[in-house]
Amino acid sequence: MAKTGLGRWPSGPAPLEVRQAKKKASDRAYRDAHLDAARARNAAYRAAHAEELTDYWLRWRYGIGSQRLLEMIDAQNGRCAVCQRVMDGDVKVRAPHIDHDRKCCPGNRSCGDCVRGLLCARCNVGVGMLGDDPEVIDGAAAYVRQFRRPTNG
Ligand SMILES: [Zn+2]
Ligand SMILES: [Zn+2]
Repeated sequence: MAKTGLGRWPSGPAPLEVRQAKKKASDRAYRDAHLDAARARNAAYRAAHAEELTDYWLRWRYGIGSQRLLEMIDAQNGRCAVCQRVMDGDVKVRAPHIDHDRKCCPGNRSCGDCVRGLLCARCNVGVGMLGDDPEVIDGAAAYVRQFRRPTNG
């Protein structure tokens, strides 16, 4: 019966696992040596271009730039368009959220034309949960009013 095994390769290429292990080790050494430098470069770039990147991100996500956002914050006196609480941005919940009409742009991105105003996180979520529907929101207001006690103001 003929032998069909591959036999041994004493002087052939190292087995795959050995080569992979070697490559892994040298990759890791390379990463360790360059990672800190790369991180520092990245941080420096982000710091130097923070405004630019914010502007770029805003345009990508909401179709408006930083300038427009600042104008909107000014126009609303830094307050949420629904609850009128100050959106100081210290806490994420109170940071201004850019609200847009999802009938125009479903999802989280806006074309810019359908941006409506700035809301705090709570109102932004609330309006969305009520289906963005004035009838439903009126209904919710009427419902809550119906049970409101005089002492609540
Ligand atoms: Zn609000
Ligand atoms: Zn749109």
